[in-house]
Amino acid sequence: MTADKEAGSAAWPGGPVPAGVLNAAGTMTSLGASRVRAEAAAAADAISRRFVDIGELQARASEAIAECTGAEAGFVTSCSAAGVALGVAASMTGDDLSLIERLPDAAGMRSRVAMHAGHAVNYGAPIEQAVRLAGAEPVMFGSSTEAHLYQLESLLDGTEGFAAGLYVVSHHCPREGMVPLGDFVAAFAARSLPVVVDLASEQDLRVSERLGADYTVYSSHKFLSGPTAGIVAGKRDIVRAAHLQSRGIGRTMKVGKEGIAGAVAALRAWVASRGDGTGEARQAEVLALWQDALGGSPGIGVRTLPDWTGNPVDRLELTVRPEEAGLYAWELADRLRRGEPRVFVREQFVESGVLVLDPCCLEDGEERQVSDRILGVLEKAAADGDGRAMPFGEYKRAEAEGALRWPD
Ligand SMILES: *Cc1c(COP(=O)(O)O)cnc(C)c1O
Repeated sequence: MTADKEAGSAAWPGGPVPAGVLNAAGTMTSLGASRVRAEAAAAADAISRRFVDIGELQARASEAIAECTGAEAGFVTSCSAAGVALGVAASMTGDDLSLIERLPDAAGMRSRVAMHAGHAVNYGAPIEQAVRLAGAEPVMFGSSTEAHLYQLESLLDGTEGFAAGLYVVSHHCPREGMVPLGDFVAAFAARSLPVVVDLASEQDLRVSERLGADYTVYSSHKFLSGPTAGIVAGKRDIVRAAHLQSRGIGRTMKVGKEGIAGAVAALRAWVASRGDGTGEARQAEVLALWQDALGGSPGIGVRTLPDWTGNPVDRLELTVRPEEAGLYAWELADRLRRGEPRVFVREQFVESGVLVLDPCCLEDGEERQVSDRILGVLEKAAADGDGRAMPFGEYKRAEAEGALRWPD
């Protein structure tokens, strides 16, 4: 029995148990973020039954985060997006409590935040909105695929009122053509302005230490396998100012003691186990199994896709040639999601006929169930000849319409 089934049947408080899903997509909020590691669940459970001084708990979290990241200080937020909003707010208010209580009304404050046009990503919601939530105004430079340092410098020197810069490291961003993070940080440092760096999905926890970034944001619920939370690490003053936002806009993004304890436990456990190579070895096994199982299917191409932002993660790229496979890539994704067991894959490049399988969230045995389901859908489509029926535009429309019908 998989952990999903055990957890689902034992813990759901009455009513029909939500169906378990096989997650070959990665750590997605819409799929429940992560499989919380035992150390983190135990820490969250233990603290949930007692009272604490939250300020003291966050100060202890700061020490742990500093130890694990090399940054001066840190704290735990409700999620990474909240960490971005609070960092932007901190760059506007500093530790002035009256300004903190006034946001998102930013009248009279420096409130512009410079960012690459190519960094205007959507991780389930647009990142500019996290900036605007603090009362700031995102100001883009460059084009979606190309940007230069001179454009940034001219923007910063030619416009009044900048409070900070925002830099996003993510596979959602263009791979080439952006200003390197080190140059970006240096341009702001030269003007005594901080940079908020969104590293939600990155494993390199020492960016603030290495590049002098003022404020970095990580996720507790992605690689670290913690509960839903964000982890901020950075320079003492801006981190303190961000923590103080709990007396202002941060109240609507509150993290509880369970989140704080769970995130810190996950961080410590991850750092302690990092580098033992077990994760990488297992990924290689899963990819080899998938290549073997799927590589010979008509109309299917398989290839290893290394993570390009620097995480030591390989995924499987599955190219669907519709004439031979008998269906479009998005129809394959759709049928996988509807069948039993439900399988979710990454759809980042789906419109170009490519699905991506992520090994990181699967337990032993689940990788085989994933490839079996894919083979089953392909074989059935070949037998029934019912594929190539849904154009991509219709697929996207159906997805949006489904969301609007919730809870039905
Ligand atoms: C996942 C992700 C987010 C959102 O993280 P949450 O913790 O779910 O708010 C933001 N930025 C990037 C780059 C991400 O990958």
